[in-house]
Amino acid sequence: MRDEGTNGAAISDELLKWYDAHARILPWRVGPADRVAGVLPDPYRVWLSEVMLQQTTVAAVKGYYERFTSLWPDVAALAAAEDGAVMAEWAGLGYYARARNLLACARAVAADHSGTFPDDAEALRRLPGIGPYTAAAIASIAFDRRETVVDGNVERIISRLFRVETPLPVAKPELTRLAKSLTPDLRSGDHAQAMMDLGATICTPRSPACGICPVIAHCQAHAAGMAADLPAKIKKKAKPVRHGFAYVVRRADGAWLLERRPAKGLLGGTLGWPGSEWGDDPTPSPPLDADWTELGEVRHTFTHFHLRLRIFAASVDQFAPADFTPAADFNPSHLPTLMRKAYSVASDTLGAN
Ligand code: SF4
Repeated sequence: MRDEGTNGAAISDELLKWYDAHARILPWRVGPADRVAGVLPDPYRVWLSEVMLQQTTVAAVKGYYERFTSLWPDVAALAAAEDGAVMAEWAGLGYYARARNLLACARAVAADHSGTFPDDAEALRRLPGIGPYTAAAIASIAFDRRETVVDGNVERIISRLFRVETPLPVAKPELTRLAKSLTPDLRSGDHAQAMMDLGATICTPRSPACGICPVIAHCQAHAAGMAADLPAKIKKKAKPVRHGFAYVVRRADGAWLLERRPAKGLLGGTLGWPGSEWGDDPTPSPPLDADWTELGEVRHTFTHFHLRLRIFAASVDQFAPADFTPAADFNPSHLPTLMRKAYSVASDTLGAN
């Protein structure tokens, strides 16, 4: 049903006009008026925001972005930061491999590129943690390279504009090809940001606001009355449920028993409570002998599974044989969300509030 004749140049013109008038004001963005006045985006800030925004919303990222840029205002400062300090600031933002890659990337830029981000997508992709999406976003937004940025928002807009009824993920190559056909030679960074804004504010997943859409005249799904039905998706399998045990221990002097998780794997490199493996039927594995009290269950959802974590708490005396973190060095806000939930369950019992 799709009409390939849709006019890419006209769509991109309308989008840029709309962006010039309605661009969202974002802390990492150089808006259209400033661009015209000659202000150039800082590649470090574009990169940092794009890495933070992977799998996360703008609202969740803003505070983190402000803190990171005030603590580490440029790539050299971040490259010199301590791993633990960066992981602590990242706590709560999730997908912790991003934080480890963030540091690895900053250090690679500092060591191998004299502290300057490369200005094309291919070279950017060779840096840690930069995939095709992020490379295209940095190259287009920071360096105005003619690169096409394709994420779930763009796939949704394109599937509607061109009425692509093939379900995702099968439709991905076709949607990427069509998205490329809209990317202008000039202002490709603003075009990418206009697409992001359209997807976030108007062409939203459930109820697109077609009545105020700048490209409604070109939209084949709208014309067919099926805007909200696209993109079609192959039904996902239900996520499995895994189970685990976590042990929150406080010593008589207020110190906590914390451990840093291995660098690789879920929540890799973050601080947390000792516990069991997560699986169908894990074995309880208390870290020391103590009078344990079971306090309840914490639920958390990861990308590929739901976790039900049974929380046990114990108070121990000064001589407990383990490596405790002094109370003065412990800040629950430095824990990832799951571990913070476990802390909330245990803190009353252990007299931490
Ligand atoms: Fe999306 Fe509606 Fe605009 Fe089409 S007309 S691009 S469905 S908001």
